[in-house]
Formats: sequence, C-alpha cells, structure tokens
Amino acid sequence: MPRPTVRLRVAGPQGLADLTGPTACEIMDALERQAVLDRLGPDPLRADADPARFIDAVRRSRTTIGALLMNQKIVAGIGNIYRAELLFRARLDPFVPGRDLSTGTLEEMWEDLVALMTYGARTGRIVTTQPEHRDLEARIVERSRGTRQNGDEDPDAVSRERSFYVYHRQTLPCRLCGTTVRSTDLAARTVFWCPRCQSVRSRRANWTREHPAAPWALTRGAAAQEAA
Ligand SMILES: [Zn+2]
Repeated sequence: MPRPTVRLRVAGPQGLADLTGPTACEIMDALERQAVLDRLGPDPLRADADPARFIDAVRRSRTTIGALLMNQKIVAGIGNIYRAELLFRARLDPFVPGRDLSTGTLEEMWEDLVALMTYGARTGRIVTTQPEHRDLEARIVERSRGTRQNGDEDPDAVSRERSFYVYHRQTLPCRLCGTTVRSTDLAARTVFWCPRCQSVRSRRANWTREHPAAPWALTRGAAAQEAA
C-alpha cells in the first residue's frame, strides 16, 4: 500500500516509483508539457542545460540568492536541502543579492550543483558533505516527521546525520567552525546557514575550488566515495 502522501504511483514489471508530496501533480498533453518546460530555468541534470541562463538571471536580480535558488524559473530542480547546502559550500550568505555575485562564483556554484544533483539522481539520496567531513559533528535536528530519505535502510548509504553541513542542523555547532548554525524563513521555506562560514570574508576563500564535489559525487561505488 502506498503511504498517504503518495500522489502518483507508476508501476511496471521492473518495480514501481511513488511520487510523494509534490507541489503539483496533474496529467498533461504534449503542448501543456512544453509550456511548463518553457517556463523553467536550466536543469543541472541535463547535458544540454545552459548555465549562462542561470548566471545571467541571478546577476540581473536584486533578490537574495537564497530566494533565487528556490525559483524554478531561475534554475530547475533545487529544493530546500540543496539550497541550504549549496550556499554553505559556496560560502555564501543566503541574503546576498544576486546582482552582487560574480560570474566566477556562479559558475563554480553551477558546477558544484551538477555534481551534487548527479549523485542525488544516481543514488536517490542527497549528500553534500565532503567524505573527510562526514564524521565531524555528525548530528541533525530531527523533526517529529524526521528527515527521511530514500535508501535509509541501505547499510552502505551515507546516513543523514553525516549527509549535510547545515540542513536541519540549526542550534548545533557548524561541522567546520563550531559556530551555532542558524535558521530563518526565506522564500516561504526555512533556510539554514552558518553565519561565520557564510560571510563575505569567507566567500573569498574559494572553498568549492579546494573542496570540489565532483571527485566523489561523480564516481560510482561506495568505496570510491570514501576514498575520495
Ligand atoms: Zn561554520
């Protein structure tokens, strides 16, 4: 039996897939489908995605980067976990206006996003921590509903306590600097961030260039990820 929040179940001889708790779920014809696709920003999981569309849209906007990342017209496919984690990895304060960011910063952010989302699509799990950071302060603030992910039963999977830098870690010490992780509302969802790691000063440290996700996120196999 599907769980109560399942809105669509696709079943075939190989298995089944459940769509759980979507914002919208409706059957469309080809024209309606194309109209939806035309409204979306570039999709980091598509080889033909044009990152310049993302970069230009962000740099034209006074809106905060934390709100822009959740806007599907700017970039498709980012949810609340990737938003918080991507901003941490980029050392960006969520409240920095898009137009204050350099093209180089946004290019690096896009590359990081492609690697992280490719890992997510392949494994069915969101993991954003570098392998060497996963055992630092490996804690998360659980809600009553929990932050369950697909594959939690898999013993080889990275546990959710080890998967995130800031998501659902409000009130806990930052894994890297010990500062208390904060949370607040931004674009209708809670954003989580470390006020020390995510400041203008720390942004200049080119953290993602020194800690790229690609070597572990784009490598198949748990052993390769742990060794990365
Ligand atoms: Zn920190």
